[in-house]
Amino acid sequence: MMRWIFAALLLIGVHKVSTASPWIYADDDEVPKDAIRITSLGSGTPDVHKEQVATGFLIEVGNGDKFIFDLGSGAFLNLFATGVPPSKLDKVFLTHLHSDHLADLATLQVNAIFGRKTPLQVWGPSGESPQYGLEASIDGLRKFLAWDTLSRRRINLIGRKDDGDQLIAHEFDYSVEKQLIYSQNGVNITSTPTRLTVGDSIPANTLVELARGCDVFIEGIIGPLPDLDVLSWQSRFLINTSHTTPAQAGRIFRDVGARLSVIHHADVNDASREALITETREEYPEGRLVINEDLAVYEVTKDAIRHRKRIVPVRSWGKFERAEWARRDDAPSGQAHKSLSSAA
Ligand SMILES: [Zn+2]
Repeated sequence: MMRWIFAALLLIGVHKVSTASPWIYADDDEVPKDAIRITSLGSGTPDVHKEQVATGFLIEVGNGDKFIFDLGSGAFLNLFATGVPPSKLDKVFLTHLHSDHLADLATLQVNAIFGRKTPLQVWGPSGESPQYGLEASIDGLRKFLAWDTLSRRRINLIGRKDDGDQLIAHEFDYSVEKQLIYSQNGVNITSTPTRLTVGDSIPANTLVELARGCDVFIEGIIGPLPDLDVLSWQSRFLINTSHTTPAQAGRIFRDVGARLSVIHHADVNDASREALITETREEYPEGRLVINEDLAVYEVTKDAIRHRKRIVPVRSWGKFERAEWARRDDAPSGQAHKSLSSAA
């Protein structure tokens, strides 16, 4: 099985660091003008649990643009908790069409009722035939939400006057290498096909070429491998031949040479954390390396990449209630506020 992923090249000049706090609060909506802020909306797998929902990223650019990259099962919970207004969230890029990367699109779409006045635009790959491509998937979502959309329009007795509840699909040919699929306002987003099994046997890898020397390289991996023991050998074979192992990721990290390499899309717990790092470090002994977690933040400037955690309220209308914390620089404790795991 193949997986197709994007290399997101955000070609923006950067030069400034914002604050000294190790935390970002949900009402810290301002991204420094020449920075890019990446918030992990989910770092896990289809096996969603409270500490780790499925995968997704919010990318905020200093010019005010905001993009969502994948929005898998549970990821909307974290997106909403960031406090970013729904009116600013109308662009989604899907790496591929697995449910752990797109299932919360329905929730995001319905969220339009809270202020989005522009259609939700979704970019994603074609399939091996039309019924497996993005357009078919989005058409299915329209049908899935048909009654919901109609009934919510009726809530407003004078009728909805904008297109905030509409969906637009931008399907692109997944097989084209180094394809520019979005270019606006100084932001370029490029897709390229890649196999998950990127090893020494497949040297011509356009993802590595595209990403070489980038700021932040996020690699989805499978592992640690003992987790797979519960599956049949056929399933293990399928997973092992269609996903990147920690050691393979280490080789990719080495070839890419990013300022920060991020292990993503793996079950992270006390047992797996050490194994993930150890196996990756066998091939990538040096260089800054972290394991992604839900609500981790990577703020990129020319001078530094700050790895922080986004603090969000337990009960949320999307906004952080300052009264919950007496002082901003206090290290919060309790659920959802655990310290970052860093192997830098
Ligand atoms: Zn996945």
